[in-house]
Amino acid sequence: MKLIKYMFFSLVTGILGKALTNFFDKNVILVADREDISLEEIRDINTLRPENYDNAMDLRGTPTHACVCGCNVWNLKVMFEDSQISQYFLDMECASCGSLATAPTPVDDRNELD
Ligand SMILES: [Zn+2]
Repeated sequence: MKLIKYMFFSLVTGILGKALTNFFDKNVILVADREDISLEEIRDINTLRPENYDNAMDLRGTPTHACVCGCNVWNLKVMFEDSQISQYFLDMECASCGSLATAPTPVDDRNELD
């Protein structure tokens, strides 16, 4: 009976070990202390705008994907049709610093942007 228990235990640990090995080969687990993560930094999307516009600039003219401050999230107005963006205004505002810029369009050469 002990031999059966030992074989069963070995089989279970072997299968579990292989599953764990596969899991850790494919994934990375990051552990963070609660003190390292500030829940205050997790903001609602509706508050994703500059606290002030002291550093905002008018960069409109050349279409761009990224702001000069390094942010690549923009606030702009869009229209939808059939659950997709059908039109958008070319004036957009950086979500971080509030600078105005020109949104890229499909005809703009992607290599010349950024
Ligand atoms: Zn910016």
